[in-house]
Formats: sequence, C-alpha cells, structure tokens
Amino acid sequence: MGQGLSCSGSSYDHDFFAAVQGGNLGAVETSIRSDPSLVSRTTIYDRLSALHIAAANGRVEVLSAILDRSINPDVVNRYKQTPLMLAAMHGKLACAQKLVEAGANILMFDSLNGRTCLHYAAYYGHSDCLQLILSVAQSTAVADSWGFARFVNVRDGNGATPLHLAARQAQPQCVHILLDNGALVSAVTGGYGYPGSTPLHLAARSGSLDCVRKLLAWGADRLQRDSLGRIPYNVAVKRNHGACAALLNPSAAEPLVWPSPLKFISELDPDAKALLEATLMEANREREKKIFKETSYSLPSPTHSDEAAPDDNAAEESDSELCYICFDQACNIGIQECGHQMCAHCMLALCCHNKRNSISLCLSSPTCPFCRSSISRLVVVKAKVKDEGDEETISKLRKSWRFKNSSEGSSSFKGLSSAMGSSGKMNLAIPDTIDMVDKPLEVHL
Ligand SMILES: [Zn+2]
Ligand SMILES: [Zn+2]
Repeated sequence: MGQGLSCSGSSYDHDFFAAVQGGNLGAVETSIRSDPSLVSRTTIYDRLSALHIAAANGRVEVLSAILDRSINPDVVNRYKQTPLMLAAMHGKLACAQKLVEAGANILMFDSLNGRTCLHYAAYYGHSDCLQLILSVAQSTAVADSWGFARFVNVRDGNGATPLHLAARQAQPQCVHILLDNGALVSAVTGGYGYPGSTPLHLAARSGSLDCVRKLLAWGADRLQRDSLGRIPYNVAVKRNHGACAALLNPSAAEPLVWPSPLKFISELDPDAKALLEATLMEANREREKKIFKETSYSLPSPTHSDEAAPDDNAAEESDSELCYICFDQACNIGIQECGHQMCAHCMLALCCHNKRNSISLCLSSPTCPFCRSSISRLVVVKAKVKDEGDEETISKLRKSWRFKNSSEGSSSFKGLSSAMGSSGKMNLAIPDTIDMVDKPLEVHL
C-alpha cells in the first residue's frame, strides 16, 4: 500500500509528485500552469494521483489547489482506493475534511479487502477521521440510501465491520465511537481467517484490555463461539493475554452494561452522557479489581489512577445535596420532568440490567424512585457554590462529586422530608438492581 513515488514515469512527473509529497505549493502551482494535465496523471505502478499523494501526506494546501481545478475527488489508484481512504488510513484529518467538502464519496470499496474509508479509519485508530466520516454519513445521501445504522456496520470483503477491525487492532477510542454510533457489538464475521468471530474474539486476540472492557460494557457476549468453537476467553488464554482472559472468563462477575436500549439514554445530552459513561466505567473497574485480585492478576498499567485524592475540604464547602439513595455520593443527576436528583451511580443502577436477567429482552424504562413518574430526560446537576465567582472551588467540587462525602455533620438534608413517609422512614421505591453497583453479580454456569 505504498504511497511512495517508485516507478513514476518521466523525471518531469517525478518532480511534480515530489513537490506534491513535500507540500511545495509554489512548485506544484508552477508545474500545473505549464502542464494542466499533470493533475490527472498517476504514478505508473500504484497509479497514485497527485490527490492521493497529497491526501496520504497531509498536504492540505496542495490538496485544495488540486481540488480547485475540478478534479474528481474519488479518483482511484491501482487498488481502487480513493484519496479519502488514504487520508483516513494516515490520519490526515484536514485533508479528509477537504475531500468530504469537495463531495468525496464515503461509500467506496477498495479492491484489496473490500474496505471503505470507515474501515481504514477504524483499523488505523484515527478516531478524529472516524468521527468525521460518521458525521458525514449522518448528513448525506448515504444516510438516505443505505441508512446510517447499516453504514456503521458496513462489512469488508471478509465480513468484518469497522468495529471488528478496531477491536482486532486494539483501538479502544475507535471501538468506543463506533459502539456509541450503533455498531453491533455481537456482529459475526463471515471470513477473515477466523470465520464467525465477534469483535470480542478479536479484542481477545489483540489483548487490548480497554477494547475488551468497552465491548463488555456494551453488552458483548462472553459465551459466543467462533467457527472453531472457541469463546473469547479461549482466544485470550491461547495468546497469553492474562488480564483479558480474567475478564473474559465466563465465571468472572459480569460488568454493568450501558443501557443503550433505553430511550432517554439514547437522547442524553453530552454532559449527562459523559458523566454516566464515566461512572459506568468506574463502577466496572471496581469490579475488575476484585476479579484481578481473585485471579492474582494485577493490572498491567493502571490507566485509571487514583488521580485526585478525596478532597474533604471541598466536600465540606459543597452545598450540593447528598444522594438520598446511597447517602454516599453527591447528587449530580437530575430527573426530568419531576426534578428529583440522585447520584450517577444510583441512576446507573436503576438503568443497568444484568444480561442474564434480561433474556426476556423487555427492558422497561425505569421510573423515578422517589415519585414513580417516568423518566423522560436526565440532566447534569452542577454543584451549587456559595461564592459563585470562585472558579477554583467549582472545579474542586466537580472533581469531588464521586468521592465519599465525609462531612456527615455539615451536609444539608434539605428536601429529605419530601422523600420520607409520615412514619419518618425512607419511603423510596428502590428496585432490586440498586445494589448492583456494590455487589459482584452471582454467576451461575
Ligand atoms: Zn447515590
Ligand atoms: Zn421524581
């Protein structure tokens, strides 16, 4: 897949392509003025056009200059690859952007593996390009003709979706973006040398703990078998990926699963989504610690460090109310329309389900545990600060939301009465799932 200049024709052509590759706009313009046909000429062997070379090397000014001369943005090379595929492959976001603006088609398939630009962005882990292509897919004809969901799950010649490739190449950020955009977590490849593999099999193969984590948190099935009859755990063990194997072991506690089927979850605003997702991953890491302890695996490199120590002072200054369900965290999620508040951990416990219990697949929307009204929307509740101008305090408070509020004496219990029955006892309709955050799930095999 060389984007080099080998085997180009005349030395004149070679000079031109070298100027394109080096981003020498002046020389490129001069050459094109003296011979306009240069813009559509290609290298002899790979049949790379100037547009391909500019895109692969991130030469956005040269790329623009060529596009300005009404060159087809979807010109293909020897392997039927478009300039956009090369930009996605090499992570050249600005070039990809220009090509897209010039009308580049995101639904072209190359002749090597039948891959699209989305496959290439996922395979090489260029999440910015991936995001760009997905947003184009949402707003262009592809969405109308193919449908966005189908495009996200587009298969290459071996039956691999972009999610398969990202998992196989250990690209957790791309895995996340794809899952977030509706990639099917349990898609099965047709060929790919491992026919019948799920993304989880391929993540197990690459040994990417982050990919395994994300796939599990999006509901990947640990018991799915590939064409050789192996579950992902077998694959991880065979490849000596001990930590991955520990999480993939069917007898290990199952993680919380992102409740994506819930309507209000798919409609979350970005702040609430980021908060809930971070809380979910954090809760799952707590479970992992127990799993690793039991299996004597220690985390290879703790990506999630205990970065900030609990800041008791900030907590004491906090005017944000303690969650009335766990009495542990500060309220940071508000339910609409009723306006009741709780912490993100408790909200997740309300929404998340144990896969084993949801075989019925009827995932009913949870209701507010305080008033039983149905939840239509969630919003992030910002901690109230006494001195409103104090930015530092605000950021401290935001940091402190997830730590135990140690200030029993000073916490405000405003509003508690509304949650209390006349007997003075807590009168909350807490579902059974509420303690899922703290207890590892029992697993019956
Ligand atoms: Zn709580
Ligand atoms: Zn309520």
